[in-house]
Amino acid sequence: MSSKPKSNVSAVYPGSFDPITNGHICIVQRAAEVFEEVIVAVLMNVQKKPTFSVEVRLRMAEEALADVKNARVCAFSGLLVNFMHSRNSKVIIRGLRAMSDFEYEFQMALMNRQLAPDIETFFIVTEPQYSYLSSSAVKNVFQFGGDISSMVPECVRNMMRGKLPEYPNKTIENKTKPFE
Ligand code: ADP
Repeated sequence: MSSKPKSNVSAVYPGSFDPITNGHICIVQRAAEVFEEVIVAVLMNVQKKPTFSVEVRLRMAEEALADVKNARVCAFSGLLVNFMHSRNSKVIIRGLRAMSDFEYEFQMALMNRQLAPDIETFFIVTEPQYSYLSSSAVKNVFQFGGDISSMVPECVRNMMRGKLPEYPNKTIENKTKPFE
């Protein structure tokens, strides 16, 4: 793909990014090919309590996206459309994995359109290899000692270790050996 962005429009990609995954990164990279600037907006006041603090989620996203030159990472709270207006951005980017995402995304897009008809939501369909990938799945696999190297970049894995120690598989195995 060309290294030159194709429009002078700035887009906002909002989410919890708890943590950012390779699926999210792929969406940012593809949006960055189309828009002049992609603002990755990390939601601060998530109703479902995030595992990682907003500071850690910001750092994870910044490091993971260091190679995407026209991507910026920042935190936001409150109404997305207010944040969009404050940034003079008219495009919301969202990722779609499966039909299960659709209902929620459809409702949010219509709600945002109701609140701010000047703002459009653009959907980018995931790459098939990331269609199963979610932040919560990554955290579950990691906590039980599974390999997440194909799901998040190394910098994110390292920061995850600070908060979520991997499951002590060996201790459990020893304890559960039946005839020793
Ligand atoms: P939210 O809590 O707002 O859903 P997420 O961080 O879970 O925040 O997701 C942000 C956006 O990224 C959503 O549009 C979601 O559908 C999309 N997304 C999440 N994981 C993937 C993936 N593996 N591939 C493509 N899009 C994804």
